[in-house]
Amino acid sequence: MDRRRCLEADLADPLAAARTHFALPEGLIYLDGNSLGALQPVVAARLRDVVEHEWGAGLIRSWNDAGWVELPRRIAGRLAPLLGADRTELAVTDSTSANLFKALAAARRLRPDRHVLLTDDANFPTDVYVAQGLATLTGDLEVRVVHTDEVASHLDAEVAVLTLTHVDYRTGRLHDPVDLTAAAHAVGAVTVWDLSHSTGALDVDLHRWDADLAVGCTYKYLNGGPGSPAYLYVAQRWHEEISTPVQGWFGHAQPFAFSLGYQPAPGAERFHDGTPPVLSMAALESALEVWEGIDRAQLAAKAAELTDRFIALVDERCDDTVEVVTPRDPTRRGAQVSLRHAHADALTQALIARGVIGDHRPPDLVRFGFAPLYVRHVDVCDAVEQLREVLATRAWDRPEHHARRTVT
Ligand SMILES: *Cc1c(COP(=O)(O)O)cnc(C)c1O
Repeated sequence: MDRRRCLEADLADPLAAARTHFALPEGLIYLDGNSLGALQPVVAARLRDVVEHEWGAGLIRSWNDAGWVELPRRIAGRLAPLLGADRTELAVTDSTSANLFKALAAARRLRPDRHVLLTDDANFPTDVYVAQGLATLTGDLEVRVVHTDEVASHLDAEVAVLTLTHVDYRTGRLHDPVDLTAAAHAVGAVTVWDLSHSTGALDVDLHRWDADLAVGCTYKYLNGGPGSPAYLYVAQRWHEEISTPVQGWFGHAQPFAFSLGYQPAPGAERFHDGTPPVLSMAALESALEVWEGIDRAQLAAKAAELTDRFIALVDERCDDTVEVVTPRDPTRRGAQVSLRHAHADALTQALIARGVIGDHRPPDLVRFGFAPLYVRHVDVCDAVEQLREVLATRAWDRPEHHARRTVT
């Protein structure tokens, strides 16, 4: 009965055609697109072509003939509509961690007389490490890590920069970017948002948010491939004033003039630094083709429907050894649902053994990501049925599900 309703929902899904672009292994229910997005065959073909023809045959000529030098800019053009940004406000380069470092340093320089960098205790660890590293380097910055529910009350005239991740990677809870950005601006602080778990899953609208700077990764919901380049956003209003701490030649106004005087490239492009990783860039550019014409509001609506359905089915079918820790209000969560379970790691492994791929976050969470581009309602239905069975039979409590792994 439930399954038939899921199949009907899939037939009515306006995004259903997007899934046909992906190559998901038969029989697998992939609910980890929030960690590593799925492959599209067109991306594999593009990579082969770049390696064999552009690199193999074209060699150095391909920087011009195959347009390698323009790759970051072309990708920015494809990303911009997904972020509610203009192309010139985006740099596509480096990892999220490296971009966050540059963004925080640049934001701090916009407020040189202030000495607090405010963040919360639900932030992704790399974000806090990077902030602390910047504080050690500058020697005059205090990183204040406050309770995630109390960010607004810690905004005051000492705060130079507020940096937060939009979606809590553990619980899926959302910060309100509009309210918090406005509150930061009201005390004169600059904001840096991390959108790693947002872009490609939610209605990210940096102009409407009045955001200052933002960063995010492209290998999660954007399906760019493992370790694909990240992006950095700088609002137009800061373009004259902002500067990067990494003044590399690819962020120079004229990299191939080889002059020793540094001249920043216009707009966000000054945050490019070294030679772009062409293979990863080519894969990412190809992966982003599928987003053409896809509406951000549609993405958010489907993410809400899938997560709603998952929560409702867990409530209905699963025993009370699991607890939904993700907000039940769909406007307060990302495209993920996390369940608390006393043996979350083993439970995750037992599900993976049955072809339902989620992941585990210590100490006691199992996460399920619902990439709206390729996850179907029927996947939700079938995943909960597997979960129900694993819980009811305690199938997680087998020795093979308690093994140690490096990457989880
Ligand atoms: C995935 C993720 C990152 C990843 O950072 P990398 O430097 O690309 O490894 C950073 N921040 C958040 C919030 C993330 O979810």
